[in-house]
Amino acid sequence: MTQSFKITLLPGDGIGPEIMAVAVDVLNEIGKQSNLSFEFEEALIGGAAIDARGEPLPPETLEICKQSDAVLLAAIGGYKWDSLPRHLRPETGLLGLRAGLELFANLRPATILPQLIDASSLKREVVEGVDIMVVRELTGGIYFGQPRGIFATETGEKRGVNTMAYTESEIDRIGRVAFETARKRRQKLCSVDKANVLEVSQLWRDRMTALASEYPDVELTHLYVDNAAMQLVRNPRQFDTIVTGNLFGDILSDAAAMLTGSIGMLPSASLGSSGPGVYEPVHGSAPDIAGTDRANPLAMVLSAAMMLRYGLNQSESADRIEEAVLKVLDQDYRTGDIMSEGMTLLGCRAMGDALIQAIGGK
Ligand code: NAD
Repeated sequence: MTQSFKITLLPGDGIGPEIMAVAVDVLNEIGKQSNLSFEFEEALIGGAAIDARGEPLPPETLEICKQSDAVLLAAIGGYKWDSLPRHLRPETGLLGLRAGLELFANLRPATILPQLIDASSLKREVVEGVDIMVVRELTGGIYFGQPRGIFATETGEKRGVNTMAYTESEIDRIGRVAFETARKRRQKLCSVDKANVLEVSQLWRDRMTALASEYPDVELTHLYVDNAAMQLVRNPRQFDTIVTGNLFGDILSDAAAMLTGSIGMLPSASLGSSGPGVYEPVHGSAPDIAGTDRANPLAMVLSAAMMLRYGLNQSESADRIEEAVLKVLDQDYRTGDIMSEGMTLLGCRAMGDALIQAIGGK
């Protein structure tokens, strides 16, 4: 029997529409071969939405997203909208989408592909085989805690304040996403905090430890954030899944991503407790190469694979997309951003065609 899914497409700006077109072709091909049918609906976000509707996240876009099983987002932003006031900036649309869908968990894999190992700034023997998933809490912690602001003290001096706060339920819900994620991987979860100094981290550690009894198949360890940062560059292979709060996750997920050295290859997923998740590349809209058929569509395509795995429970189809990406790299096909000597340079569309062939279509 054919399984059917409603997918909202948000191509956005810059290279967004180019890489989205490749992801749609790949999904259609996978669908044909795996008895999955995708009903795509396109909506406006970012600069494209500002131009057409005067705001970066029109209400109808959020509504269409809410009605779907998953949302694929390419990228937003560009020079044209850089000088607009904050509420009209493309990024505000992205933040509004995350808030509107209550996406509290951000999943960012950092996987070293053997074909691109020399793109890493670390030594081959350190990064070979690295396969990490960082699960970052996205809607709480110090980025949202109250009180916040810059206040005048009694002496007239200014004092800046932010508050790092987590409730038990906020910790539990991100903890559950992390344990479930680890379950789908190598069953190892490392929780990162600063429990030697911060009370909020002590509560974080207590809750993670309590949750572990519900997941006896997952091995839980704890690290202080300073040590975690060090271990990530010293011996990244020791990690499977990492779970951490908003601030620590912001920093560690960028550090982990850069182990791979290639921004055009990195997908991500943002998930809520119910409702659709948003799947998008880590990179931006690359306005410098937009419209020139030079974009690397692989991060977008790998984001579609994450959608299949984490949003639609179609791991087998996700595996097939990831295998196709490895295959085209094995065939020495490269876009400009990951090009090296002796490889064959392809444009965005041609890379898409190579992927379809690798999946077994056309
Ligand atoms: P960027 O990621 O767009 O580009 C950085 C560099 O990497 C550029 O040289 C670009 O050409 C290259 N690059 C990025 N993705 C690529 C791909 N798929 N293939 C080939 N090359 C690629 O970051 P930036 O230049 O700092 O930002 C450009 C715009 O994107 C800004 O308006 C920014 O606000 C926005 N942005 C959006 C997101 C998002 O949509 N989530 C994330 C980051 C930045």
